[in-house]
Amino acid sequence: MTQPPHTPLHMAPETPEPPKPAHTALHVVRSSGEPDLAAAELAAESFLHALGIETGSESMRGTPGRMARAYAELFSPRPFDLTTFPNDEGYDELVLARDIPLRSVCEHHLLPFVGRAHIGYLPGSRILGLSKLARTLEHFASRPQVQERLTKQVADWLQAQLDPKGVGVVIQAEHTCMTLRGAQAIGSTTTTSTLLGLLRTDARSRSEFLTLTGASS
Ligand SMILES: [Zn+2]
Repeated sequence: MTQPPHTPLHMAPETPEPPKPAHTALHVVRSSGEPDLAAAELAAESFLHALGIETGSESMRGTPGRMARAYAELFSPRPFDLTTFPNDEGYDELVLARDIPLRSVCEHHLLPFVGRAHIGYLPGSRILGLSKLARTLEHFASRPQVQERLTKQVADWLQAQLDPKGVGVVIQAEHTCMTLRGAQAIGSTTTTSTLLGLLRTDARSRSEFLTLTGASS
């Protein structure tokens, strides 16, 4: 014993802890540049005129500009920080965010599709701020999309960033290009899913995920 007995406990030499990353954050921004709203407005006006729609009335005078700004907004994901934390407690059960609202635009008709996403993962060494699952969805939804690719992009990206034991993404959406025109199949929805890692290969995890998302038959 080299310390005198009255030495306060907090003075005792401590074993230095290995430095722990408290959290790490990846700043996520869209890859395309800023929209040229003036050019988009002129193009929208020409587009409407080509369809035989006049824009001279007081109420439609601003329509080309509103169209340009509306589409620019749909294609502008808000930047966010993908913050991850060490999984100190060793939590190894499913983390699932259900019923995340989704809006995107189909790249074939440039009409919206809207619905819900369920995104889950089996943690590895790191966990994620829960709201980031919704922000990841928004990031990939804010561009001309097809639902199949969107589903896979969200899953693949979470797999790459988080290195979890498994990732699952289920998206259910109504495509207005199918419900309001064309087939006019009003009320029909399309379901897509991507399962990676243990959520794909382990029957119990897969079944739990699909049951909790309501995607199992
Ligand atoms: Zn479409």
